[in-house]
Amino acid sequence: MLREHFPGLNQRVHGKPLVYFDNAATAQRPQAVIDAINDYYINHNANVHRGVHFLSESATDLYENARLSLAKLLNAPSPKNLIFVRGCTEAINLVAQTFVRSKIKAGDEILISHLEHHSNIVPWQILREQTGAVLKVIPMNEQGELNLESIDELITEKTAFMSVVHVSNALGTINPVKTLIAKAKEAGIPVMLDGAQAVPHLKVDVQDLDCDFYTVSGHKMYGPTGSGILYGKAEHLEEMPPYQGGGEMISKVTFDHTVYNAVPAKFEAGTPNIAGGIGLGAAAEFMMTIGMDKIAQRDSELRVYTELALKQVPGLKLIGTAAEKSPVFSFVIEGIHAHDVGTIIDHYGVAIRTGHHCTMPIFQYYGLAGSCRASLAFYNTEQEVDVLVDSLIKARKMFE
Ligand code: PLP
Repeated sequence: MLREHFPGLNQRVHGKPLVYFDNAATAQRPQAVIDAINDYYINHNANVHRGVHFLSESATDLYENARLSLAKLLNAPSPKNLIFVRGCTEAINLVAQTFVRSKIKAGDEILISHLEHHSNIVPWQILREQTGAVLKVIPMNEQGELNLESIDELITEKTAFMSVVHVSNALGTINPVKTLIAKAKEAGIPVMLDGAQAVPHLKVDVQDLDCDFYTVSGHKMYGPTGSGILYGKAEHLEEMPPYQGGGEMISKVTFDHTVYNAVPAKFEAGTPNIAGGIGLGAAAEFMMTIGMDKIAQRDSELRVYTELALKQVPGLKLIGTAAEKSPVFSFVIEGIHAHDVGTIIDHYGVAIRTGHHCTMPIFQYYGLAGSCRASLAFYNTEQEVDVLVDSLIKARKMFE
């Protein structure tokens, strides 16, 4: 059984079996990831890349093999296309402050969408303050889908970069990223995709997508917190300036001048999150062993079942009903504040998230302060969905 790989799922909370439906915030970790981290700290604990001794070499091997596993998962041309980062937030900031900042002039335009997480909005606002760039937004509709017709007007001669979320964390919308990329490419605009919520659910092939950058959040793909990956096309990584200066990212330093290290080390200043990187590699291997097709199939079964089951809850309204969705359900219940819903069902063992989910502009669109969000992973079950529905019905009764 898929669940048996995840020891964290076997807990009871408030005396009830845990129903973990907060996977979009962070997923549970499989034993294989926990074992890989333990194994590093117990058997291979040393710094990477700079030692000649046995332990340092074996730690370096584990760390670089992890990069290789992630390259396989994403079908990157080479592990050199991958930079270890802290997560999607750092990956997006890195691209904004290196690749884009080094090219952009006042008046140039950055295109994002209405469905972005704050981490794909605020870095561009910071860049706007620094450079005088202009931020433009692809609008969304009531279903939580992007308005593709508007793109032809939004792309102008001044558009310098497009950065769009692959799968929305708040609504679950799977964006038509191939169409978006094709439109940007026609105009010669480089594209970054925020893959935080896509990699845990979809088979992502960065070469097939032909995106310029792709960001991966480790803790959402069953890996360690504080880990992640930035994929970049080789020509961009070679050309763009470094993000942070320090050890590891140099090949020669004098007081007059520094020669930077080769890619990807050029972007990995300082001692990295070694255990995190190794754990992330184990997560990638775990996902490939389960199989992305199987994960996607389970997701879609759970999505269909949950969509139907939630209809039994009186007064429940789904927010975001896109045709293409991951198993993420944002909803409000008439007459109950989202926060109260979350607190009540927690007492039945059900963990969901409430609030704006770091996507305030989405909720501004709907005129809401926030929502309840149940976000499922492939290890969840139909029985757990029934527990969610029962607990929501009970919560609703309390407010009648
Ligand atoms: N983008 C999306 C769509 C997310 O859901 C999140 C996290 O919730 C992020 C970016 C930020 O990712 P990280 O936690 O890896 O920095």
